[in-house]
Amino acid sequence: MRGERLDKLLARLGLGSRKEVARLVRAGRVRVAGEAVRDPGFHVPEGVSVEVDGKPLALRRHHHILLHKPAGYVTSRAEGPSVYALLEGFPTRDLSPVGRLDKDTEGLLLFTTDGELLHRLTHPRRKVAKRYRVHLERPATEEDQRAFAEGLFLDGERLLPAELSFGEDPTRVELVLWEGRFHQVKRMFQARGNRVLYLKRLALGPLALGDLPLGKARPLAPEEEAALY
Ligand code: URA
Repeated sequence: MRGERLDKLLARLGLGSRKEVARLVRAGRVRVAGEAVRDPGFHVPEGVSVEVDGKPLALRRHHHILLHKPAGYVTSRAEGPSVYALLEGFPTRDLSPVGRLDKDTEGLLLFTTDGELLHRLTHPRRKVAKRYRVHLERPATEEDQRAFAEGLFLDGERLLPAELSFGEDPTRVELVLWEGRFHQVKRMFQARGNRVLYLKRLALGPLALGDLPLGKARPLAPEEEAALY
């Protein structure tokens, strides 16, 4: 039996798209049965060890993918256009999004196969920071800042304190939340008589978009993954 192609196997295990894992292989970072293999088309015999950067692959139970979501995509498998269409080349079968972004919201969307991690990152008690860039119809005010910091009331419930900041142009603000309720950012500004014109999530806990281009996805780097656990 010829075994599975190395690039296919690495992509299936969540190390990146076929193109990205081919680059890993060509860089000599992958060893098969203890030998460095630089041919992405190499057929891996059944049962041999595969290591990436010296780490055995069998130890990878879960994988996580970061997407720079463009507007116009729905955080759902069932409705379209679906964010999953942007994860081409990644194995998506067991991947779930960590929270949702509205169809018209851009920004950082994390996917994971780890249900426990997903729960931890989305539970309000865990207080994971979510940082948003927001463009507003009208200037934000210090009153808004105070109201958000005290914990706004929405639908009769008090929200966790949120941090609103802005510079010279108070229609361009940043907002940090420690929970993620349905349409929360839009509803918070609506409650203050304002309207969100543009919304982008810049960061989730220790993860940031960095220079990941709009519409692109990548696996988490080992140090990003370590920061989540
Ligand atoms: N808050 C919103 O209103 N929409 C999002 O997509 C994310 C946070």
